[in-house]
Amino acid sequence: MISIPKGTKDILPSEVYRWQKAEELFRTTAEKYGFTEIRTPIIEHTELFQRGVGDTTDIVQKEMYTFEIAGRSLSLKPEGTAGVGRSFIENKLYADGLPAKYYYITPCYRYEKMQKGRQREFHQFGIEIFGSDKMLADAEVIMLADDFLRSFGIDDARLHINSIGCPKCRAEYRKALQEFLKPSYEQLCDTCKSRFERNPMRILDCKTPQCQAVAKGAPRMIDYLCDDCKNAFEELKGLLKNCGVAFEVDPNIVRGLDYYTKTAFEFISDKLGSQSTVCGGGRYDHLIEELGGPETPGVGFGLGIERLLLIQEACGQAGKAPASADVLIAALGESAKLSALSLTKQMRGAGIRVIMDVMERGLKAQFKYADRIGARYVVVIGDEELAKGVATLRDMKNSSQTQVEKDKLIKTITGEYDG
Ligand code: ATP
Ligand code: MG
Repeated sequence: MISIPKGTKDILPSEVYRWQKAEELFRTTAEKYGFTEIRTPIIEHTELFQRGVGDTTDIVQKEMYTFEIAGRSLSLKPEGTAGVGRSFIENKLYADGLPAKYYYITPCYRYEKMQKGRQREFHQFGIEIFGSDKMLADAEVIMLADDFLRSFGIDDARLHINSIGCPKCRAEYRKALQEFLKPSYEQLCDTCKSRFERNPMRILDCKTPQCQAVAKGAPRMIDYLCDDCKNAFEELKGLLKNCGVAFEVDPNIVRGLDYYTKTAFEFISDKLGSQSTVCGGGRYDHLIEELGGPETPGVGFGLGIERLLLIQEACGQAGKAPASADVLIAALGESAKLSALSLTKQMRGAGIRVIMDVMERGLKAQFKYADRIGARYVVVIGDEELAKGVATLRDMKNSSQTQVEKDKLIKTITGEYDG
């Protein structure tokens, strides 16, 4: 017996309806805001993530699925933004006019310790706006996430926002942070020791208990913002208030990715245990340049679908699997079988979800089958019905049974027959 790799999960037919509903709602929501889907490969050159996610991040340092083939290092995508950025540059999508607004639905791969809401293969919804450095874009991104979560029946997600500044104000903050961390340098984990010089802010995002203890009481970026960043943050708060999106300023949000500037935000749910963030995003004004493209600001988010579904379930909004067919045609005998088969074709042509029992069982077993899949109607065709040109239509909901003329059958089922 070969089992599924650790950290991955099958999405079984009995639960796939929840994924489909989430995907459909995400698509319609993103399209309501003028976003178009983009699909990028699951594998990219490893350098893309080293540059685009940042080689001081946990993701790149510890969590990537990297392999070599024909002398090139490739990695499975750990997140969605870097690939979209690469595609934007490589296909010169900026030449189509700005802003560029994309959404994606993608699997992601991170070699992490498994917990509830933390897998090695997981899935994300995401959006990106390229081209605008205005806070109106940040507000739109946050509004979209808020709109989607609410329409999906999630009422407990709280929005936390922060500003993590720009390279200008971060330089001074970095000095202050290093001063603060210096006396505790020896207590840091090995990864964070190496981050001390290269990117001390990453230390605040480290998940090891010793580093979290060291980081307690550290200076906060929000107290070091330059005027430009401060004004932008004030404007964003005003925009959110204006459209009734509730938020809380949370100076502790750092975000795991290197390319963030200014706005950083998370939607947090109490229903997730320690993996409390369902959606994380922010502004990344230097990503496109970093990847070799023209100077182009950007803002977006990634939303974990597994976590989304866990919260939805905890909110009692998981719903029920829909019936897999609306009608079962039960044929009794060989000539009825032929007539039933052509009836399925007609019905499918009319858009009805209809099946026959391909196992050709007896009538009782077929009724049981109809019941199991949740079919609303069973149409019985036997010798008697054939001779009279009718079918017996049983409504499984109220157990009523009538004989219906064959040519009125479809209209009766679709509710269009008014005779
Ligand atoms: P965390 O702090 O929980 O590790 P992160 O900062 O690494 O999250 P992002 O890179 O911002 O997460 O990804 C965006 C979203 O993707 C997260 O908010 C979460 O919902 C989801 N996500 C991230 N990693 C995983 C994972 N290993 N398993 C399931 N979902 C995940
Ligand atoms: Mg993480």
